Amino acid sequence: MKEESSDLMIVGAGPAGLSAAIYARRQGLVTTVFGDMPGGNLYMIQKVSNYPGFKDGVPGMQLGSFIFSQAQSEGANLTMTNVERLEKNGSSFIVVDTNGARHSSPAAIIATGGKPKRLAVENSNLEGIHTCAMCDGPLYRGKEATLAVVGSGDRGGHLCLLLSIIGRKIILLDTNAALEMNAALQSAVAELDNVEILLGTEILAFTGENDIDGVQVSTGGGPPKKIAVDAVFLAAGWKPNTAMISFPLKTTPQGYIITDEKLMTSCPGLYAVGDVRDSDVKQILTSCADGARAAVYATEWLRGQNS
Ligand SMILES: Cc1cc2nc3c(=O)[nH]c(=O)nc-3n(C[C@H](O)[C@H](O)[C@H](O)COP(=O)(O)OP(=O)(O)OC[C@H]3O[C@@H](n4cnc5c(N)ncnc54)[C@H](O)[C@@H]3O)c2cc1C
Repeated sequence: MKEESSDLMIVGAGPAGLSAAIYARRQGLVTTVFGDMPGGNLYMIQKVSNYPGFKDGVPGMQLGSFIFSQAQSEGANLTMTNVERLEKNGSSFIVVDTNGARHSSPAAIIATGGKPKRLAVENSNLEGIHTCAMCDGPLYRGKEATLAVVGSGDRGGHLCLLLSIIGRKIILLDTNAALEMNAALQSAVAELDNVEILLGTEILAFTGENDIDGVQVSTGGGPPKKIAVDAVFLAAGWKPNTAMISFPLKTTPQGYIITDEKLMTSCPGLYAVGDVRDSDVKQILTSCADGARAAVYATEWLRGQNS
């Protein structure tokens, strides 16, 4: 099969990858983007209220499609396929996509974000344990369901807001003694009259045959007790998506890719942006900024290689 070549390949079509594509095209680079989910994790967000330019907020899905169509109209090649493997061959990066096609470029950007961690407890693969409320929450609409949310950070707060209009009762569980979500989310969750918060609560196991029917917990180190639930939504930890990279890179112990101040990884010509990168603020705006900067730095780097 013929190998397609570009100046720059971008793995991941979330806000970071698509912003990189917009900037790379405006720098004149032939740019190929991989990822079958236009807008990346934005589809999980009911309403984005902190992205500049939208004073009344904007649905995450809509913002994602705006950024996607901007990258498209700038002329980026948006493949809508995922990457099976990213390899290094001499001075080229090689992508093998999920259709088995090969693509190459002298520079590349990893913008693959992350995904929620599953809990290492008994029965963690039962039906009814979900990671995306936007995708799977509607399954419980009109069912008078009791839904547990695991994790009290910002993601857990967003899940409560979304699920509170679907479920009869939402139970927010966290081992921490205090909520970890930001103050605005705390106030929004506090206004919901169908959300019960159980802090200092450890999940010991999920119960059920094929479908989940409960969560076994211990609060404050007390005796195990079972809480009956119809479904669980996980927001307890995040894992960067790096499994497709087939050569070693410098990462944190949690697997986030370490970059220099110009967002280059430990492999020359390879950049990392957005949530997959070791950074302190993981948001849409910071991901877009990473993408823009990496595209400019990659262009400089490519020019340096060719001069
Ligand atoms: C529930 C929730 C609510 C949030 N609310 C807000 C908010 O209100 N405001 C805010 O600023 N931020 C919010 N965030 C955070 C924000 O969504 C992220 O910071 C942002 O999406 C990160 O962008 P990214 O492009 O780095 O990664 P992502 O958006 O994760 O996009 C990466 C894409 O790469 C894809 N990918 C992974 N592996 C491959 C592969 N092998 N080949 C091709 N593609 C691949 C992924 O599937 C994904 O589609 C929220 C996140 C969640 C989960």
